[in-house]
Amino acid sequence: GETEEEKDQAGKLFENFIQASTCKGTVQSFNLLCRLLDLDPQDHETFYCSLKTRLTSWRAKALWTKLDKRTCHKEYKKGQACVGTKCLIIGGGPCGLRTAIELALLGAKVVVIEKRDTFSRNNVLHLWPYTIHDLKGLGAKKFYGKFCAGAIDHISIRQLQLMLLKIALLAAVEFHVNVEFVKLLEPLENQEDDGPGWRAEIRPADHPVASIDFDVVVGADGRRNTLEGFKRKEFRGKLAIAITANFVNRNTTAEAKVEEISGVAFIFNQKFFLDLKEETGIDLENIVYYKDNTHYFVMTAKKQSLLDKGVIIHDYIDTEMLLSSENVNQEALLGYAREAADFGTNYQLPTLDFAINACGQPDVAMFDFTSMYASENAALVRERFGRQLLVALVGDSLLEPFWPMGTGCARGFLAAFDSAWMVKRWAEGMTPLEVLAERESLYRILPQTTTENIAKNFEQYTIDPGTRYPNLISTCVRQNQVRHLYINGELPVKSCSLVRNGTIRRPVNLARRESEIRPVRLLTWCQKQTEGYRNVSVTDLTTSWQSGLALCALIHRFRSHLIEFDSLNEEDSANNLQLACDVAERELGIRPFTTGKEMAAGQEPDKTRMVTYLSKFYELFRGTPL
Ligand code: FAD
Repeated sequence: GETEEEKDQAGKLFENFIQASTCKGTVQSFNLLCRLLDLDPQDHETFYCSLKTRLTSWRAKALWTKLDKRTCHKEYKKGQACVGTKCLIIGGGPCGLRTAIELALLGAKVVVIEKRDTFSRNNVLHLWPYTIHDLKGLGAKKFYGKFCAGAIDHISIRQLQLMLLKIALLAAVEFHVNVEFVKLLEPLENQEDDGPGWRAEIRPADHPVASIDFDVVVGADGRRNTLEGFKRKEFRGKLAIAITANFVNRNTTAEAKVEEISGVAFIFNQKFFLDLKEETGIDLENIVYYKDNTHYFVMTAKKQSLLDKGVIIHDYIDTEMLLSSENVNQEALLGYAREAADFGTNYQLPTLDFAINACGQPDVAMFDFTSMYASENAALVRERFGRQLLVALVGDSLLEPFWPMGTGCARGFLAAFDSAWMVKRWAEGMTPLEVLAERESLYRILPQTTTENIAKNFEQYTIDPGTRYPNLISTCVRQNQVRHLYINGELPVKSCSLVRNGTIRRPVNLARRESEIRPVRLLTWCQKQTEGYRNVSVTDLTTSWQSGLALCALIHRFRSHLIEFDSLNEEDSANNLQLACDVAERELGIRPFTTGKEMAAGQEPDKTRMVTYLSKFYELFRGTPL
């Protein structure tokens, strides 16, 4: 038995955990709590029950009541449905975490790896009624009292992640930050049954997750899916440039009075857009405003008005060039967003101060939605030396949402449930082709789902697709149509770390496409990063690098502890180059294409090879906040 004092302390720690407002804080308070109660979340089968008996404050009990109602769904078989199944989830975004929770409730051992260590996205997600119901059923209000109060139907991405992380931790999901998935590793040949099975190559390489064998891997790493084997379909629409903007919400009465603009209703209000254009020169196709932790706006802007207002400098046909950082006037973009927000709220928001993003900049970004991607298939099975691995995609990796419509989280959660259902089928012993055929049948429904055509009785929702999709025919895809997804053979060798599938969408001030960094942009980037370094002047991608100082400066800029820049001698180019190449290889994993000495031997370096080499630094460092 515990003393009253211990109970008190546990109660306090639990309260800290519930209230934690950052990713790190959540993990820390959770660890403290487990330590105090002497509970090990690695005992995932008993963890939740032990925790429940030890934490008996009314707050805790209220949460257990909620969660118990969920855990008693018959599909979970009292947490026995997937016992012994080990699942890796790549990415701690909303969909990765939502999937993790379901798999844990099924009794699987679940590990989530997240390459970042902060939840920093202010942007706000529209929630469908069923997602609100789903989250409330997981105790959302206990973690975040304001959750969808009244008619509110949205939540900031970071708040959603935070709440899902807490639920996942309580369900004994293992969660690791600063761990990046690199690729799958096959089992080795001729191993006894206890040899290594399917594993993940991760960064840092010596992290304990690297030595876990997995039965299931779920790609939830956002639109930039890193898992092999998923072909992407492109939907190319007309040019669509979306702008998101977040302003500080001081929660004053004046702010509280301002009405939200819910997207769907407004798309049809032509007069609004005509007036906006006439008064400000801003020409929009739609605009959404949600009052959340921030005042959040997302709008689709017409290109001509962005040109007219000086936001975009030159008109290019290629959207990547059009929206490249060199072609966007950041100040004008801020002005454009603010003016649209001001007009859209009838000048009622007293101050429009930009909220600050994770990089310390005003939280405004412009994104290109002209091309949207969806994976051709939702899952596949790999088999090597008699060992099988079920691989699946969820969330943005599976199907990219168009933000102004706000379908990301709604369809994302449906796919999370469908994937959990698939893992259950798999654990029950269905054959790979049966599992895949059913999964692909369900995936055909996903892009068509709307608030109108999914089942209305949210109370009945479970991971069983029959509870969510009316008139479901889960056999529309036949086994012979999914044979190609049952892959029995070697993993394809990645030709080069720069080449990855598909396009990535990032804010315009970052590059969007990894495989195609144009040298001009690479040069601009290098110039920016090496600016101000003594004796460094980058004017090209060849001779400017011969003294070695530029390369040392580039490394120093991002990893100042690796190179003592001030002690370098400009004359000693061979040494400088050798140093930079060695450090890059050892510490950053960037292989040199030649030795430092050869490079310094006077000959002008080969441009193509230099571009390839420098691109690797760009890949690694781009977007790194300094
Ligand atoms: P994400 O939320 O993108 O999460 C993916 C996670 O995986 C990230 O945390 C990432 O750090 C991690 N990750 C990536 N690669 C790896 C790796 N190799 N190893 C480990 N972890 C990895 N939707 C809207 O409706 N409105 C918006 O305004 C809006 N703004 C957005 C702004 C940004 C910058 C981004 C990226 C997305 C935005 N979205 C928006 C989309 C929305 O966030 C997603 O639809 C929703 O969060 C569900 O996505 P997800 O969980 O599938 O992926």
